[in-house]
Amino acid sequence: MIITQNSVLSGAPTPQELELINSYTVKPLSADEVYTFGIVLCDNEIDRDFERFDIPALEKLAELFVGKTGIFDHSMSGRDQTARIFSCRVETDESKVTSAGEKYTKLCARAYMPRSEKNAALIEEIDAGIKKETSVGCSVGRSVCSICGKDGRTDPCAHIKGREYGGKLCHRILCDPTDAYEWSFVAVPAQPAAGVTKSYRADEQTVKTVKRLSCANEGVTLTKAEAAGLYGYIDELEQLAREGKEYREELICDVIRMGAAALPDMRGESLSAICGTLGLEQLRELKKAFSGGGRLNSQLSSAKPETHSGNSEFRI
Ligand SMILES: [Zn+2]
Repeated sequence: MIITQNSVLSGAPTPQELELINSYTVKPLSADEVYTFGIVLCDNEIDRDFERFDIPALEKLAELFVGKTGIFDHSMSGRDQTARIFSCRVETDESKVTSAGEKYTKLCARAYMPRSEKNAALIEEIDAGIKKETSVGCSVGRSVCSICGKDGRTDPCAHIKGREYGGKLCHRILCDPTDAYEWSFVAVPAQPAAGVTKSYRADEQTVKTVKRLSCANEGVTLTKAEAAGLYGYIDELEQLAREGKEYREELICDVIRMGAAALPDMRGESLSAICGTLGLEQLRELKKAFSGGGRLNSQLSSAKPETHSGNSEFRI
């Protein structure tokens, strides 16, 4: 049994689950041909974009998400695989209250995929309980202001989400879902709670907060909304940094592999040490040169020091 943020209980389906699953398959599958796992699709906590679903919306989404397929993000083994939700349930935690003062409620789903050689690595990854967040795509009928109750689409108000009015954090309440399109598994750094993942850009207020912090001469007090904005921004930057690092590592692997073929006399450790000192631009150039083959290859293997001296890319 696996208990993590998203992978609640994974493994073989129960007989009842298998029956549900087989209503989606062309040919009936047996219990050992199917892998099932649990995910939290979304909840009623205010998210980083200062939005939240209300409880009836979660109940409606529980109907809409059944039968929908989901995908795994590029950083997971299953980048081309899909899984399908076969049941959804809304769960309330009586002991936990959201920041909006409601009982914490989440939409839990059970999903399955066939056990196959192709899926084996992904199943292992889910079993290992690597922390994941779920991202959902859906459309809602209304987006209501938490301060005045007006629907922002039909009757816009002057309240700005993320700001405080009379000590209350303004946010949008997403109501009346009309359609659910997709869900996906996203690898994320540790999060305080599962939630809806959306792309985050620094808003005007966060830009101001950062500016205030950068020119502060003494202690700075942040409002809850400013702190939340800043947290979301840092979180996004961390994710970007991780992706950048991954890209760099992949690039270095390519250069070392191609370099080893082009320069058989050079030790792998030396090549790797050289790559470690280079910037992205230089690594890209090197990769291009190695993949271009011929000319550079003969130039470097001609072993004349003077041909190297003019080329700063190859100096350490
Ligand atoms: Zn309002």
